[in-house]
Amino acid sequence: MEQNNKYIRLAADLQTDSIVDGPGLRAVIWTQGCAHHCKGCQNPQTWDFNGGGLVPIEMVKDAIDELEYHTGLTFSGGDPMFQAEACNEIAEYARSKGLNIWVYTGFTFEELMKMSETNPIYLEFMKKIDVLVDGRFKLEERDLSLLFRGSRNQRLIDMKKTLSSGKVTLLNEYEYNETKYFERVPMYV
Ligand code: SF4
Repeated sequence: MEQNNKYIRLAADLQTDSIVDGPGLRAVIWTQGCAHHCKGCQNPQTWDFNGGGLVPIEMVKDAIDELEYHTGLTFSGGDPMFQAEACNEIAEYARSKGLNIWVYTGFTFEELMKMSETNPIYLEFMKKIDVLVDGRFKLEERDLSLLFRGSRNQRLIDMKKTLSSGKVTLLNEYEYNETKYFERVPMYV
């Protein structure tokens, strides 16, 4: 998909008041387009890169301005990484408004770091993410007891710690509800 920081292709309007796509009260951006085609995907209607609708990023920012009482913004889909430039732009704006950022992607962190070697936008976007939920959904590893993810191979990666240490560091799930992830957080990038 062509990278663009003026428009984003979305599967739906900005969702508000979610409590299942990360901690706290969250808004969710449902991006359109995914090439992973995981068996058992719950949103196959979001695979088509020509589906959904093209929305000006300024309109998304206006919708973010309208949010009240929300602590975070989650990018899901589809796979937001196919529109990393647009998502990076929106994430920067959301962080400036005090929202923490969670991103669901079918790519692994290691794949994204490799992709960053030829296109730095992936790393730029990752620097603005608090938690990256990475990896394809694997039906054979599906587990309904997992926190905020669908299959056991997927990880909740603490991006600030991971990028500062250079070593993949997972979110401490037992402490997450006592941490910043329920709070509005300041920019760290
Ligand atoms: S990465 Fe997500 S949206 Fe894409 S096919 Fe897999 S489960 Fe579906």
